[in-house]
Amino acid sequence: MTPPAKSASPFDYVVFGGTGDLARRKLLPALYHRCCDGQIAEGSRIIGVSRRKLSSEAYRTMTREALRDFIPVAEYDQDAADRFVKMLSYVAVDVSGDSGWDKLKKMLPSDDGRTRAFYLAVGPGLFGEICGRLGRHGLATPATRVVIEKPLGRDLKSANEVNATVGAVFSEDQVFRIDHYLGKETVQNLMVLRFGNVLYEPLWNSSRIDHVQITVAETLGAESRGSYYDSSGALRDMVQNHMLQLLCLVAMEPPDSYDANAIRDEKLKVLNALRPIGEDDVETLTVRGQYRAGAANGGAVSGYLEDTSLEQSNTETFVAVKAEIANWRWAGVPFYLRTGKRLPARFSEIVIAFKQIPHSIFPKNAGAIHGNRLVIRVQPDEGVKQWIMIKDPGSGSMRLRHVPLDMSFAEEFQVRHPDAYERLLLDVIRGDQTLFMRRDEVEAAWRWIDPIRDAWETSGMAPKPYISGSWGPSAAIALIERDGRAWHGE
Ligand code: NAP
Repeated sequence: MTPPAKSASPFDYVVFGGTGDLARRKLLPALYHRCCDGQIAEGSRIIGVSRRKLSSEAYRTMTREALRDFIPVAEYDQDAADRFVKMLSYVAVDVSGDSGWDKLKKMLPSDDGRTRAFYLAVGPGLFGEICGRLGRHGLATPATRVVIEKPLGRDLKSANEVNATVGAVFSEDQVFRIDHYLGKETVQNLMVLRFGNVLYEPLWNSSRIDHVQITVAETLGAESRGSYYDSSGALRDMVQNHMLQLLCLVAMEPPDSYDANAIRDEKLKVLNALRPIGEDDVETLTVRGQYRAGAANGGAVSGYLEDTSLEQSNTETFVAVKAEIANWRWAGVPFYLRTGKRLPARFSEIVIAFKQIPHSIFPKNAGAIHGNRLVIRVQPDEGVKQWIMIKDPGSGSMRLRHVPLDMSFAEEFQVRHPDAYERLLLDVIRGDQTLFMRRDEVEAAWRWIDPIRDAWETSGMAPKPYISGSWGPSAAIALIERDGRAWHGE
């Protein structure tokens, strides 16, 4: 079953879990923005589905509240909100049973050519039930797409199971696996920087690049996600998806076109070339941490065990990994990844650290020459900074300075930065899978992650404690300093 070509015609978006946190915080505001931008054709329908009994009118009221709660005041327009909520309706279905589906079917026109998207904003345990019933109740037309969210499994075996249950009803080109990082403006810009300019690509290899750093830092703790988080941990929650996707975009070979499968083929090659980390080197190449009480977000905060009301936990809230890509382009270039909760700042950033110049012609007292760095800020303050050496301005003697050429997109273009979901939700309707993960990518990522987890277990490598508000365990600093390098900005 192949979805029809891209079209701006009216469509139907069915959001399972339409009353949940993800729907209220992200999906409904994103669709509202697209509606304001004139991207949702008249006659389109957005249908919320969950178990609770609500009228469509009550769902519209709930949505208005969500828009007011989660959209900045300056972006909220009463008239636009009125237009938007008119597209909404609601149906109560417990997806674990067979009642209610007929009502949903009646709400959808039987026209097979009309694009229909089912967004599964529910726990992954329900994906199989929903897809099976969509099939059995005749709701999966050839023009149907299904959108699934992380977590896509907790290891290779369970990811295979999720993919198989969805794949039993939908063909691969109907399945859209969201990693919202790929919808971020700067992440897409990374591809344009690399492949839309002649400047970087000749330097983009082990002869000019010393190393790469990818940091995803959060200031929040596990808090409300406690029980989910404790069964996951930072490696599964962040590294397997977001961070490996960023690594792929940095490291992939140029695809022959901006085509979904051309790009995903290249990303897959990177994942397959990641050097496995196992029992022999897990202690030298990875660091696990778990936060303790400390100071963060402007006040005193408790530790992970208190936050999750657990007596004991072996779950990491911080992880750092020194990864290597075993291919011609990247041999010998370490990719240092780190992510954690309760760190001193919230940001996601990629740092491309170029090698030092081979020889300095400047006098010693001119100051140190730093390697060039390209810093790609994924969030917040999306933008790119190219750090270069310049002469300190003025008539004094020669003094060198390391300064950033700042390309802050928001300031430069004076545009609102759309949330990643805005882009991705409409890509689903357009049938554009470029920014979605293919099944083999997800599985290849687990194939690299699983041996790390296994090695932690067999070697008994417990998370090291770190104080909230610090940059993780000191071992994470040692991981990079052992190689004569330092984390950017520290
Ligand atoms: P949530 O707030 O708990 O919402 C779950 C939704 O599913 C509710 O609307 C719930 O409504 C509905 N639901 C649960 N069981 C159902 C059933 N048997 N039949 C029909 N509807 C059912 O969870 P969430 O935070 O929105 O997350 C949803 C999924 O997205 C999870 O897998 C999560 O890991 C993933 N995710 C969430 C975020 C986020 O920012 N929240 C980000 C990335 C991924 P009723 O109780 O009324 O049925």
